[in-house]
Amino acid sequence: MDKFEQPIMVTKSFLPPIERYIERMGEIWEKSWLTNNGEFHAEFENKVRKYLEVGNASLLVNGHLALEIAIESLELKGEIITTPFTFASTTHAIVNCGLTPVFCDIERKTFNIDPDKIEDLITSNTSAIIPVHVFGNPCNIEKIESIAKRHNLKVIYDAAHAFGVKINEIGIGNFGDISMFSLHATKVFHSIEGGILTCNKESLKRKVELLKNFGISGPETIELVGTNAKMNEFQAIMGILNLEYIEENIRKRKVITQKYRELLRNIDGIYYVDDIENVKHNYSYFPVIVEEEYGLSRDELHDKLKDYNIFTRKYFYPLTIDFEFYKNDFRFKKPDLRIAKSIAEKVITLPIYSDLKLEDVEIICDKIANLKVNI
Ligand SMILES: *Cc1c(COP(=O)(O)O)cnc(C)c1O
Repeated sequence: MDKFEQPIMVTKSFLPPIERYIERMGEIWEKSWLTNNGEFHAEFENKVRKYLEVGNASLLVNGHLALEIAIESLELKGEIITTPFTFASTTHAIVNCGLTPVFCDIERKTFNIDPDKIEDLITSNTSAIIPVHVFGNPCNIEKIESIAKRHNLKVIYDAAHAFGVKINEIGIGNFGDISMFSLHATKVFHSIEGGILTCNKESLKRKVELLKNFGISGPETIELVGTNAKMNEFQAIMGILNLEYIEENIRKRKVITQKYRELLRNIDGIYYVDDIENVKHNYSYFPVIVEEEYGLSRDELHDKLKDYNIFTRKYFYPLTIDFEFYKNDFRFKKPDLRIAKSIAEKVITLPIYSDLKLEDVEIICDKIANLKVNI
């Protein structure tokens, strides 16, 4: 085979059987209730809270606004320590809220914020840490929590990639002050667009609910300056249906991941992250690191695979601090981000979605093996 007839994209949104969505839509039509805490919103919130095994869950229109609302709900000020190895959203949310991101380097092994480098960045202006569970691999939660306690800082986890992940049987949304899950169409679990904030404090959930609906607390009362970030009923029914398939989808992704690992194991210069002990993974992405021994650079591999109709993604590249408008921002400190920079230059995510065929994984891995230049 020379190239795939149909392009293999890096991801593909899961969709439930259309008849089932139409059936639920019929119920929306009957009630003529489209948004603002509808019946399906309540049903989805309840089901997702149980699935994530968290105390409180709030549904929002998307993950990004959820992150901004998380920051606002904790009334953060000054500087936030975060990672540059993430999607633009994490950094934008901090900047949009009028705060200053302080970038911390990452761990080579997990691509997550390096907790051993956080304390050097703390100043009297630091109010919080916003780590990201990159590719769904949990951050070093224990170390982060102890730093936060010692310095009286809040922690918001960007768990956009981590839906369904557990550590020692505990849902990942239970850690820190708040966690944000993205339910965007390209994520492992979605409600077309959508976001969830989880927290342990009832009072914080109440504040999130106010912030997402203009601060409205009664027919004639506004309690605070809020925005509009409500999830609607069409998103909620998509979420309800998709939740029925999430475990099966994660199982299929696990089989695909194991196939990739088996077939890439012996290719010099191609490295991947293994499962972590006591973690239930969601296999949301399949990132690999392209080292010099491979003979082609990451960019060359990306372009050559495209010739075969295989679409990979340089994710995350560039680092958020390297976007033109952030790079030149005088407010931002430029600490040593050596590891983050080197990972961003070498990382590539390979196609993965629940119905990706194992024989297609074999072809993709064959191409990667054959493209290798022996040096
Ligand atoms: C997807 C994503 C977001 C934003 O979520 P949306 O639902 O797309 O708004 C934030 N952070 C990370 C790491 C993401 O991957």
